[in-house]
Parts: sequence; C-alpha cells; structure tokens
Amino acid sequence: MSTVVDALIGKVFTETRENRGGQLADYIPELAAVAPDSFGICVATVDGYVYEVGDTRLPFTIQSISKPFTYALALADRGSAAVAEKIDVEPSGEPFNEISLDPRTERPRNPMINAGAITATSLVAGPDLDTRFERIRSTYSRYAGRDLTFNRAVYESESRSGHRNRAIGHMLRSFDIITGDPDEAVDLYFRQCSLDVTCRDLSLMAATMANNGVNPVTGETVLEPALVERVLSVMSTCGMYDAAGKWVYEVGLPAKSGVGGGVLAVLPGQIGIAIYSPRLDSHGNSVRGVESCRALSNELELHFLHVT
Ligand code: GLU
Repeated sequence: MSTVVDALIGKVFTETRENRGGQLADYIPELAAVAPDSFGICVATVDGYVYEVGDTRLPFTIQSISKPFTYALALADRGSAAVAEKIDVEPSGEPFNEISLDPRTERPRNPMINAGAITATSLVAGPDLDTRFERIRSTYSRYAGRDLTFNRAVYESESRSGHRNRAIGHMLRSFDIITGDPDEAVDLYFRQCSLDVTCRDLSLMAATMANNGVNPVTGETVLEPALVERVLSVMSTCGMYDAAGKWVYEVGLPAKSGVGGGVLAVLPGQIGIAIYSPRLDSHGNSVRGVESCRALSNELELHFLHVT
C-alpha cells in the first residue's frame, strides 16, 4: 500500500507542479511575501501514517481553514440547537466576506463564510479573550497532534486591514446574532486565522476528522462523532468558497481551503488530505490544491458518491 500511495502522490506532485497559474493573496504584505512556488502534498491515514511529498513542513497561516474547527468547538461548547439558532447551514453562493445575512432567517447562511465564522468564534466559551483564544489554539493543536503557534505579524496586519470583517461583526451585533462585544469576536477571529500550520499538520487535522474525531497518532478524542458528521456536512456543501458546487461535482470530498494556500479534504473512515500551494484562483482556492485533489480523487476513486 505504502509504495502505491507514495508513487501516486509523487506522480500528482510532479504533474501539478508545472501549473504556475493563480496569484498570491495580497491584501496583507505577509501573504504577498511567501515563496509562490512552494508546494506540498500530504495524505494521512486513520492508522496515523503520513505520506508526504514536497514542502510539507513549511509553516503558513491557517486562515479560513480554521472555520470548521471553530464551528466544531462552538457546537461542542453550546450544543447543536443553540448554534443552529445563530448560524444556518445553507450554501450562500455569495463571496465569503459578503456583508449580509439571509433576509428570511436573519442569520448568517453558514459557518464557512465570514459572517457565520465570526458568529461561531463569538460562541467559543471562556471567561476572557485570552482564555478563549488559548482554547481555540489548544483545540486545533490537539487535531494536529502538536502545539501550533501564533503568527503575530499576520495577526497585526489582519487586524490593521480588517475593516470589512469589523463591519460584519457590527452587523451581526445589530441583529443580536452576536450578543457580546463585536470587536472582541472579530479580534478572536483574526487570531484564529493567524495560527501557523504546515501541510502535514493539516493532513492530521483532516485525518482526525476522518477518524471520527480521534487523532490517529495521539489517540486523543478531540470531537465527538455526531459533531464530526455535522462539521463534515457543512464542509461538503460550503467549504470551497463559491466554487463549492464544482468541487463536489469534480472531487466529491468534504473540504476547506484558506487564502494562505492550504486545502484540507476528508475521506471519512479513511484518510485526510492536505495540500499547500499559495497561488490562488479567482475564488480564493489554491490552484494546485484544487488540481491535485481532483487528480487524487480520480486516481484513488475517492468521490463520496463513487460505488465500488
Ligand atoms: N483572514 C481572512 C479574512 O477573513 C481569511 C480569509 C480566508 O482564508 O478566506 O478575511
């Protein structure tokens, strides 16, 4: 098995490396300054084995890939019913940072767009901002199986330039979706987006989801199975910005991407996949991330509707 997977990810890596399409995110200087050609692929199994090729140990910020993990924490802290009162689970078809709520429900449409993600962050329990951030950081770390660190430079830039997210926070406050201080919720969201991960970390975070919430290396239970199912459902329909429909059509795996260049995908019961390559397409998804996931899904017949 191992040589087969090594050969396959090597082949996908070599073929996809030729693709230099897309642009680095440039809304903050730190993201515009990364090495554009970096590329890594990891496949982590539910037995805890990680297959890796390329730049799999290079740190980059998790950005929007944080969203499903904080949503999971909010579900665990508050219960599914309380979270559902605040955040819907419908695909939005709108850009991720749209300043809008569903006019019918007056709720954010889902937790993978910023309005829903900032709401989820606001629901993370704790007596003060620092404790709540530490809960987020240590929870993500348990998925990854190692201590994740905070990228202060990215956080400061996000915070300096994050007017749109502040507008979203205040809109949420005006509709009583956020009941506390909206600036605090947005600050916590900037912090969670600024945690550094590697491609290897993301593959283990995905494999923990694939393994029903149990980290396959440490054996620690990070999330209960019923919540894993909910989080993966939302990732299936809303995880890839406004290209989520095409993603399900072509790749067929619950996934989440971020503007840092990471993509994470989950095959429940089997593997977690992660790609790092920072050039993005017009939707904000890593160009090589999408291409290599599509290739891996086709070659290994991973589409969740595939009948063997
Ligand atoms: N910090 C970013 C924002 O909310 C996350 C962007 C992303 O990865 O989609 O604007």
